[in-house]
Amino acid sequence: MVHAEGVRKHFGRLDVLKGIDLTVERGQVCCLLGPSGSGKSTFLRCINHLEKVDAGRLTVDGDLVGYRQQGSKLHELREREVARRRRDIGMVFQRFNLFPHMTALQNVMDAPVKVAGADSAQARLDAERLLDRVGLADRAGHYPAQLSGGQQQRVAIARALAMKPKLMLFDEPTSALDPELVGDVLQVMRQLAADGMTMVVVTHEIAFAREVADTAVFMDEGVVVESGPPRQVLADPEQERTRTFLSKVL
Ligand code: ADP
Ligand code: MG
Repeated sequence: MVHAEGVRKHFGRLDVLKGIDLTVERGQVCCLLGPSGSGKSTFLRCINHLEKVDAGRLTVDGDLVGYRQQGSKLHELREREVARRRRDIGMVFQRFNLFPHMTALQNVMDAPVKVAGADSAQARLDAERLLDRVGLADRAGHYPAQLSGGQQQRVAIARALAMKPKLMLFDEPTSALDPELVGDVLQVMRQLAADGMTMVVVTHEIAFAREVADTAVFMDEGVVVESGPPRQVLADPEQERTRTFLSKVL
């Protein structure tokens, strides 16, 4: 579903991604770990067309990100095509950026109706089902300000799912939450993984990564230092840098 080969990205003189190699198979969960500033968010943003890759090859579901291939020629995608491809990718950020003036239900049905042109009665039914799936059936009429951070984040997940993505990206989805609210969000993500969603999750929740990830990837300074099954990377890492990082977050 995601394939990166030598993906590079710089901002001015700062080399942020120095050749990322990474593969996420369909239906699998990849947890990305690493110190702040190592390029994790930038990499997710590249997958989601929010940043342009400078060099290397990045594909999502076989399609080259940002380009259309015609014979041996590459054509940069037009904005409309980028927007269409981005619809297939759901993204959940650290800060649940819900629309404050819309209820939970309206937040979830907004994109299907406005972007995908869904019938609004059908979109409402789908949104109700999604809110039920994230445990918030009884909060459909609440505005974000009336919800806890954890509830808002679950609405954000439902909103991303409403576009029926084939890939979900999570960028530290629980980092901004009070500790007692983290569990419910992780539970929703655990269920999503069990339902077969392909997921790339940036997280410092080592226990979650150990339990749910098919692959754990440790990034530092713009490179993948080490990757493999979580029971190996997280419990018995080969690289000193991975060990040092884990000893700090555990
Ligand atoms: P992480 O998510 O692992 O903490 P980021 O991908 O957010 O790391 O950032 C990696 C580095 O790139 C940091 O040094 C950050 O300051 C820099 N960076 C990220 N986005 C930009 C940008 N738009 N312009 C300039 N520098 C950026
Ligand atoms: Mg980040």
